[in-house]
Amino acid sequence: MFGLIGHLNSLQHAQSVANELGYPDYAEQGLDFWCAAPPQIVDEISVTSITGQKIEGRYVESCFLPEMLAARRIKAATRKVINAMALAQKQGLNITALGGFSSIIFENFNLQQISQVRNIKLEFERFTTGNTHTAYIICRQLEALAPKLGIELSKATVAICGATGDIGSAVCRWLDARTDVAELILIARDRSRLQALQEELGRGKIMQLEEALPCADIVVWVASMPKGVEIDPTTLKQPCLLLDGGYPKNLNSKIQHPGVYVVKGGIVEHALDIDWRIMKIVNLMDVPARQLFACFAESMLLEFEKWYTNFSWGRNRITVEKMDLIGQLSVKHGFQPLLSF
Ligand code: NDP
Repeated sequence: MFGLIGHLNSLQHAQSVANELGYPDYAEQGLDFWCAAPPQIVDEISVTSITGQKIEGRYVESCFLPEMLAARRIKAATRKVINAMALAQKQGLNITALGGFSSIIFENFNLQQISQVRNIKLEFERFTTGNTHTAYIICRQLEALAPKLGIELSKATVAICGATGDIGSAVCRWLDARTDVAELILIARDRSRLQALQEELGRGKIMQLEEALPCADIVVWVASMPKGVEIDPTTLKQPCLLLDGGYPKNLNSKIQHPGVYVVKGGIVEHALDIDWRIMKIVNLMDVPARQLFACFAESMLLEFEKWYTNFSWGRNRITVEKMDLIGQLSVKHGFQPLLSF
């Protein structure tokens, strides 16, 4: 059985879905209450592959909210992730995806040091960040959508916001090795990590977000920002493809501007309906029976193949070969990158 550890994208989001999630008491409550809430299994899932194989899974709501980081409630945030992992393991889940901020918190706060949670010794090989599949899907979205907008990769400048991150660096590696993209712009805050990435790639311009945006034909947004940023669409090229793979979204508001196309990045669509309630409840997808985060799909793929191993783990270790491998499984079991604007 597989697991998905998820969280809602803001306090407001959490309050709006608390009733349906099975937390009626939480709908009126503020951050303190969510900080104290334990993780819970809130859905039972079954997925059928296009091969005919059927698997079962569970959805673990961690009760983490991005506001916990903004409010420096670090202990609460880390407890959410560790307790959700312990619950997944106690339920006997073989392979569980750490969705959204869960893996970022795990890495940034060195949670591998906490291997004992009450009477449970965490077995990290039962977990995956899902980032290899996410990076693969973002690259396939980029490759498929750019030509539709008349953007030729061989002449295009692609800016990656969050380039030094786990997903961002994998996207850079893929674009460098597997496409003829003309120029890469690398954006993040820590300059030494940017320089290390530039050295690894042997290319890429390091730029600030504001100066990079007007130069880019495509922007891949994969920064770990607890809140999205506002951008001025009039400063962008036309056409410009904005692939927003962040959760919560990196872009704060809906952008409606001629020639500017925003796409949900890192989202897949399954060929068959998935038997679950959670995507309908959280109200994040246009077709909740079929669309989901690529990181969640990674744990389903590992369960289909019975690869009970942390396929994606640690930071900046994703290779194009591993992206190929998970990509082949993705196609085999009926997942496709979301290609609608
Ligand atoms: P990482 O923590 O590995 O990397 C985050 C990157 O963002 C780093 O390069 C970091 O560099 C940069 N960054 C953070 N804040 C800013 C900022 N204010 N301005 C510019 N750069 C910034 O994260 P992941 O790669 O694991 O995840 C990236 C995003 O993808 C997250 O939003 C996550 O929730 C989402 N995600 C989506 C999935 C999906 O299925 N669609 C699956 C998993 C994650 P620096 O700190 O130096 O600025």
